Amino acid sequence: MEPFHPREWQGHLFGTVEKNLEDRNVIALEAPTGSGKTSFILYLSFMSGKKLIYVTRTHNEFTRLYEDNIKYFDLPVIYLYGKSTLCPLKERWYDSDEESQKNVCKGCILKDKIMDIDMHIKMPPDDYYNKIISLSIENIRNDINNNLIKRDSKGNLIQTGNGNITAYCPYYSVRSSMKNATVVAMTYNYLLNPSIRFNIFHGTEGEESMDINDYYIIFDEAHNIDSVIENFGRSISEKTVNGSINELVDTFPLEEYKCHERIGANLLLEKLEKDIEGTKSGDDLKLFRFSDDVKSRLGDINYIQIFSEKFQAINDNRPIKERRRNYLETVYNFLYDAQRLENGDIYSQKFYPERGDPYKRLRIMYYNTSEYLKFLKNKPVLFMSGTMPSADHISKIWNFENMLYIRVNDIFYNTGGVKKYSIVKGFSTLGRYRDNTEIWSDILKKYMEFIIKTYSNSINSVLVAVPSYKILYGDHDKRIPGIADYLPDELRPFSVFENKKLTYSLIIKKALSDKLIIFSVHGGRLLEGIQITKNNRSLISDVIIAGLPLMPLDDYRKNKIKYLEKTLSGENIYSILYYEYALIKIKQAAGRSTRSPDDMANIYLCDDRFDSKYWRDNLLNN
Ligand code: SF4
Repeated sequence: MEPFHPREWQGHLFGTVEKNLEDRNVIALEAPTGSGKTSFILYLSFMSGKKLIYVTRTHNEFTRLYEDNIKYFDLPVIYLYGKSTLCPLKERWYDSDEESQKNVCKGCILKDKIMDIDMHIKMPPDDYYNKIISLSIENIRNDINNNLIKRDSKGNLIQTGNGNITAYCPYYSVRSSMKNATVVAMTYNYLLNPSIRFNIFHGTEGEESMDINDYYIIFDEAHNIDSVIENFGRSISEKTVNGSINELVDTFPLEEYKCHERIGANLLLEKLEKDIEGTKSGDDLKLFRFSDDVKSRLGDINYIQIFSEKFQAINDNRPIKERRRNYLETVYNFLYDAQRLENGDIYSQKFYPERGDPYKRLRIMYYNTSEYLKFLKNKPVLFMSGTMPSADHISKIWNFENMLYIRVNDIFYNTGGVKKYSIVKGFSTLGRYRDNTEIWSDILKKYMEFIIKTYSNSINSVLVAVPSYKILYGDHDKRIPGIADYLPDELRPFSVFENKKLTYSLIIKKALSDKLIIFSVHGGRLLEGIQITKNNRSLISDVIIAGLPLMPLDDYRKNKIKYLEKTLSGENIYSILYYEYALIKIKQAAGRSTRSPDDMANIYLCDDRFDSKYWRDNLLNN
């Protein structure tokens, strides 16, 4: 371990942050990327002796916690992963969607077989957990070879005698170790989703196993909270409803089940399928309303429940390999929530899976983030991010009125490198320009000329951030070009484009050998997570914000704003949600360029619309 020497801001703010958390206040801490937020909260725990719940958007962010902890503090940490990741008995899983297979552990003999989890791991969390899963699988094999356990005729593991078995469940082992850890790392949904939170803080018999009041609660990358909560609602697709109809028809044939419950369930499902087929779904979220036919039958959803339960009982009795997903249950749960919706609506959208054809789906989308955050009232909570939502946002949208808002850059000079913002005029990605191919082509050419000029003068790689994939790649079916179409061939070997197959390691490898132009999309993976560094210094010297990344004002966004204006007395909501959305996206992109206090970068705001008071106040005069 290395001795930890707090940076200037960490040392100065320690006392204030600790005092406020001790007083059970809420703190919002904005500190630039590379300024040491993660080491700060570990330092806080190390010095105060307090336990932390550390919440991140994805498991990827556990790596940063692990690296800082092993380097300086070696606090006992548990990294919580989901059941579907940690379960060694993959044959019990007929569906990777954890929520839709809640019975997976029912009757499993490993549920109470627990091993001690190492809380001082010396390898990244992913690697450690792969190791304990492999060990568990090996122990299962050994126990079978030693006649301690065997598979019954249905494929379930059963114990054969009184001998001590060595096999264990990694998931429940991690759960049972959590209470002994000083830091428990988990993703947002484990803490913010009420039913998952209940499970996590309670044992297998429902007894309380951890008291949330014993912890400081730390939200990392807190600018993601709204978007994570927006997606908490259930969804169903054409495929789900079709699957539920097949399940009903195949498992409960009408000849044998001539009752009104069976007929009622069938009719409701068929009408629902028609409703989904009839939606004109696109990329945007469109407000969905059930047809009168479905509405008049919604009282029959308990018929679906009856057959879902019957199906589950049959399923549980089948050999493991023949168990199937319970589509009836998925549809029932969706309709149950839809009937009780107060703080949201149902929206239709076309979904593009990584594999297979796109399909239509219905999603329950919620409006009011504060409903999911209210359990944090009067608890010691620290929200932190390099791009923190404004104080207005936190007090109005999240409903934390009395909080301490700290912007580290306002107090300390250059905590995370220097970004020099400038506005470059002469082009825009405004929608009406995109409607005219001739004008749009001229604008794209100008963008590309600026990109090439910047690249030829840059010290290091250039990051180009555009508002959408359509602006990057164009829409070739409609003969609309994209920026990528204007990249000269000679620069292609030195360019990378954001797409689902592009990996961080490939970009980093290329950036280490060549100066690159990296084309990315706001909201895509590159701008949220990538760190292109060498010896802790950023390999990006220039960022081009090619177009203003405004929030897409689809039905959902419009209705969310309307709902919040009505329930939160209206003031400023549009501006908070609409402009902050873009501001956070721009700051996220710019943040890729400074990963240490020694980095300096040019940030070019390339859209005529940046030439206004809001953007000058929030970016240039900051
Ligand atoms: S108890 Fe553990 S091993 Fe058994 S099914 Fe559940 S997660 Fe898998």
